[in-house]
Amino acid sequence: MAFFNIALAPGDGIGPEVFEEALKVLHSIERLYSHEFSLKEVLVGGASIDETGVALTDEVLDTAIASNAVLFGAVGGPKWDNPSASVRPEQAILGLRKGLGLFANLRPVRVNPIMFEDSALKREVLEGTDLVVVRELTGGVYFGRPQKRWTNSRGRQAVDTVRYSEKEFERILRVGFELARSRRKKVTSVDKANILETSRLWREIATEISEDYPDVEVEHLLVDACAMHLIRRPADFDVIVTENLFGDILTDEASMLAGSMGMLPSASLGRRRKNGTGLGLYEPIHGTAPDIVGQGLANPLAMILSVALMLRYSLGLESEAEAVEVAVEKVIADGYRTADIAGGVQSKVVSTSQMGSLVDEKIELARKK
Ligand code: NAD
Repeated sequence: MAFFNIALAPGDGIGPEVFEEALKVLHSIERLYSHEFSLKEVLVGGASIDETGVALTDEVLDTAIASNAVLFGAVGGPKWDNPSASVRPEQAILGLRKGLGLFANLRPVRVNPIMFEDSALKREVLEGTDLVVVRELTGGVYFGRPQKRWTNSRGRQAVDTVRYSEKEFERILRVGFELARSRRKKVTSVDKANILETSRLWREIATEISEDYPDVEVEHLLVDACAMHLIRRPADFDVIVTENLFGDILTDEASMLAGSMGMLPSASLGRRRKNGTGLGLYEPIHGTAPDIVGQGLANPLAMILSVALMLRYSLGLESEAEAVEVAVEKVIADGYRTADIAGGVQSKVVSTSQMGSLVDEKIELARKK
């Protein structure tokens, strides 16, 4: 039996709705595999602003730091949407990433054959797509200084700065190479080395690090070419690793391959132990979906699949993670869909809570076999 502390941060909008379904699954894994999960619910985002005046309190950050993992719903909504407000819901995510030292964002994209008809791309292009984008989270143009605006005789001017250190590049590249070792052993390193000095340093370090991984095939791609190949030949990718800005854009592009925001989980990871586990934050890629809140329309699968990533990357429970992923695939294969993915004529449309229960039942059934 293993014991784990998990911080639960449902957040706002559909966050708590999809979270409830993820908890069904988490409780079943705990019971069926005889683990003990100590769960502590915390307020983040708009819910925290309403209660405490800030999006993330020190107490919540301390709880997260003391945990093995943080499960996160989504934050934000029209109520807190004033762009000039000094307190904003997304400060919770940024504060947790920083406070927990989470520098690597992993976004797996696996296209279930049953979902081919729901994607904007053709079946023959999508077939075999199973990739992970690894994005650097804490450096680059989002954080480089100077970052400012001014006006002179030639009009309005602005500057942003891309700055990266060797160490920052090395640690994210190693996440990519290690991950590739546990998968199909191919890394696509993405940069803009024909133009940017930071990218030339990236490529130099990627080449040096690749020598420690002779079993992993390396491909270097310019970011513009990568954007094109993701749509033309997505099945050729295994692990894509890249810096913050390029990763931000490529992860959103890659997420469209799977058909819906409601299907995709993500993991934000920090330093790893020798066995590959470590503290992480797990969340669906979607937001709080104010347009469908409270109607039972939210797809809980991205949140449930985030539980699978947590089991794998923070708790080291690979069989349990696979049990969740297989259960989701079986429910989809049986034709069940929430409204956002109910494109095909064969679909049986279900609510948020019915979808959660269906996945839960599959986990239970598989374990009892
Ligand atoms: P969104 O992801 O919330 O919604 C975009 C569209 O996708 C909407 O039509 C929504 O109904 C649909 N959708 C999203 N998740 C779904 C799900 N699980 N099932 C079914 N349909 C789903 O993005 P948005 O509308 O740009 O943002 C709404 C709010 O969420 C904003 O306040 C934004 O700041 C916040 N947001 C938060 C996060 C986060 O917490 N990580 C991420 C993105 C947006």
